[in-house]
Amino acid sequence: MAMSSTPHWIEPHPHGIYIRPADAWIDPSRPVSRALITHGHADHARGGHGAVWATPETLAIVNLRYGRYADEHAVDYGDTRSLGEVAVSFHPAGHVLGSAQIRLQYRGETVVVTGDFKRRPDPSCAPFEPVACDIFITEATFGLPVFRHPPTGEEIAKLLAMRAANPQGCVLVGAYALGKAQRVIAELRDAGFADPIYLHGALEKMCALYGDHGVDLGELRPVAGTDKADLMGRIIMAPPSALADRWSRRLPDPVTAMASGWMRVRARAQQRGVELPLIISDHADWDELTDTIREVSPSQVWVTHGREEALLRWCELHQIKARALAMVGRDEEEEG
Ligand SMILES: [Zn+2]
Ligand SMILES: [Zn+2]
Repeated sequence: MAMSSTPHWIEPHPHGIYIRPADAWIDPSRPVSRALITHGHADHARGGHGAVWATPETLAIVNLRYGRYADEHAVDYGDTRSLGEVAVSFHPAGHVLGSAQIRLQYRGETVVVTGDFKRRPDPSCAPFEPVACDIFITEATFGLPVFRHPPTGEEIAKLLAMRAANPQGCVLVGAYALGKAQRVIAELRDAGFADPIYLHGALEKMCALYGDHGVDLGELRPVAGTDKADLMGRIIMAPPSALADRWSRRLPDPVTAMASGWMRVRARAQQRGVELPLIISDHADWDELTDTIREVSPSQVWVTHGREEALLRWCELHQIKARALAMVGRDEEEEG
C-alpha cells in the first residue's frame, strides 16, 4: 500500500488559510464558522462569519463596515488564546490601525501569518514587531527589486509645497478610506501642518473611529456645507473614486493628488489623471520584505499574494524553502 503523506497542519486554500487543529480560517474570502482576521481591509475581512478573533481595533473597524459578527473575541496585541491545541496570538503589522500578524504555535512549530504589513514608521498605527518563526507566511504586493518606496517625509513635503503654491485653489488628495487617508493626515500633523483638513463624507466615520482609538488627526471639517471660497488654500481628502467624480466640481481649482505605493508606476497615475502622485505605501517594499525575512529567520517562506517570483528566487538564493500560495481575491488595487 502506498504511504499517504500527512498534510501540514496549516492548509493554504485559494479562499483562505485553514488551521486544521484549530478548525479555523485566517482572512477567509467566504463565510466560515471560525475566522481569525488580520485587519479590516475588505479583501481580508468579510462579513458573515460565525466566531471571529481579531484585535479590538479591527473588530471596531469591521463592525463599522459590516455590523457585528455572531460571536466576537477581541484579542489584544501580545495576548494568547488557545483554539484546540493551537496557541494563537496577535502582533502589530504596522499596516493600518489594529492590523496584526497572527502567530500560531502547535506541537513545537511556530507559524506567522503577516496579513499585509510595512516597516516604515506610521503615526496612525502601532509599529510592526518582528516575530521569530519556522514558517513565515507573507504578502509580496511590492515584491520586486524595482519597488523601493521613497522616504515618506519627502512625499508629504511635496504635498505641502503644492498647497503653498496654490493659494487660490486647493489640493485634493485621493486616499483609501481605511488607513491611507488617516495616515496622510497624521503625517501632515507630524510635519507641523495645523490647519483644518477637509474631508469627503465617505472618510468621516473612519477618521472619527481613529480618533476614538487615540490617533490624533487634528481639526477635521466636512467639505459638505462649506462655501467654495472657504476651501481655497486647503488640503482636501477624498476616496480615490471621488477624484474624477462630479463631486470634485464643487472645489476651487483643485490640483489632484493621490497617495499610494502604486504611484511609483507613472502609467497608473496618468490613468487616474493624477497631477501630483504621492508614493506613500502601507505595504513593505522590496528591502522591507527581504530585511524582514532575514530578521525573523524562518526555514520556510510561503507567499500569499503579490509579485512572488522574485521573492521566491531570493529565498532560494538564501537557502530558504519558499512557495507561492496564489490566494485569490486579494485586492491590491484597493490598498497600495
Ligand atoms: Zn490591507
Ligand atoms: Zn491586502
